Amino acid sequence: MHFKYFNSIILLSFLTGLLNGCSNTPKSSINNSPEQEVQKQTFLAIRNVNVIPMTSENKIIKNATVIIKGDKIVSINESLPDNTKIIDGTGKWLMPGLIDMHVHNLADINFSSNYPTKGAASFTNTQDFMLLYVVNGVTTVFELSARVEHFGQRNEIIKGNVIGPRIALAALIDGGNRSGKVANTPSDGRQFVRLSKAEGYEFIKVYSHLNIETYYAIIDEAKKQGMKVIGHIPDVFKGRTEEAFISHFGMVAHAEEYSKQTDKFTDEVAHEFAQMTKENGTWLTPTLTTMEWIVNQSRSLNGVRNLQSLEYVHPLMQSKWLTSNDYNKGSNPERIAYFEQLVDFHKKLVKAFYKVGVPIVAGTDAGTSGVVWGYSLHDEIELLVEAGLTPNEALLSATRLPATWLEIDDKIGTVEVGKFADLILLDANPLNDIKNIRKISGVFVNGQWVDKIKIDSMLSDLSKRNTANKDKYDWKKRREN
Ligand SMILES: [Zn+2]
Repeated sequence: MHFKYFNSIILLSFLTGLLNGCSNTPKSSINNSPEQEVQKQTFLAIRNVNVIPMTSENKIIKNATVIIKGDKIVSINESLPDNTKIIDGTGKWLMPGLIDMHVHNLADINFSSNYPTKGAASFTNTQDFMLLYVVNGVTTVFELSARVEHFGQRNEIIKGNVIGPRIALAALIDGGNRSGKVANTPSDGRQFVRLSKAEGYEFIKVYSHLNIETYYAIIDEAKKQGMKVIGHIPDVFKGRTEEAFISHFGMVAHAEEYSKQTDKFTDEVAHEFAQMTKENGTWLTPTLTTMEWIVNQSRSLNGVRNLQSLEYVHPLMQSKWLTSNDYNKGSNPERIAYFEQLVDFHKKLVKAFYKVGVPIVAGTDAGTSGVVWGYSLHDEIELLVEAGLTPNEALLSATRLPATWLEIDDKIGTVEVGKFADLILLDANPLNDIKNIRKISGVFVNGQWVDKIKIDSMLSDLSKRNTANKDKYDWKKRREN
């Protein structure tokens, strides 16, 4: 009975891999823009700020001076070079930029392929989309069903045409009678892994409908190719879940991967799952916020309608969430009660996993209806605290820990000399109250400073554009282009 619900949860992930547009004017030069070159030479200092380094010691550095040059943190508490631009950090808190380990970014898409050369038919502006991450201090994201368009988006950011997060890309491989990269034999599974590597993907995502032998082969081949594996626990493992935990299965992408595997939502079952995950060295991205939103929408669409961040969401997705919402299909008390049980069980899972020492990282499944890119990561961090993590651990789950899993912890995830300047300046201490993570005074994205005034004006422009364009987008008519 659960499976019909879960299929709908998870399939949405594919649908949301939409829309983007690299619509900024291309630079005529192959080099960086003059503004970027100037910024590279300039020193920026945040003075008198309290630093939350998120290192293993995580000792707060009070009233510090943090100096940034180009894209790097070059010193902490050393004297100021000449011509340094000063940002006053008095009474504020500086922490590493946040990492969302489970997203589905909007990218250009063709909903109705019908002739060669047609290409995409639905677009959005990459900057408008990436802004949602920037304004929330999300400076790295893990795209879990990447397509070629996502490489293009990432290049726009790297070239400096768009300000946005670092992006890790996973190729999704499913089985059964699906579309996309579908493998139903071990040799096909291995071939897709090698192909994904050749295409430039860095990670593999395994999916729900793989058969056992193919799933094993994919993970084995990924190991040979040096690609880490994240994903779902294939449905076929129900009743024998521990057999899914083989060497090199690196991360489970949702807490609901476990609730799909059982009909008993008890602490004992949660503990068993935690134990087998721990023994295998596998990590967990619980995506608690997704299930909260599923319950919310199965009751009514008012929650989505009243979302403050909805005005920043691409109008096509607003239309989808409000007029074709897969979770809101008339009142169904049985279904709602089931989802409520899951919300509860997922918190039990987080508690159990935390207790046995499975590393937990923050991810949102952003792009699922109601789960707004960027904003939802703050929700997830709060939910992790509700589930029993301390504020420090919840922040760790969205900074240093995911950087470690992605194997870029020498570059991001902490506030340390030599690291990329991906930073959030907060008006209040998030270690005292996790809600303070929302009190953003400014963000450094790869060394580029975006203050609150700029954030507010960019958001207000985006909202105006979305409102003006609203009538042009109707999810139900998306194939008519
Ligand atoms: Zn997902």
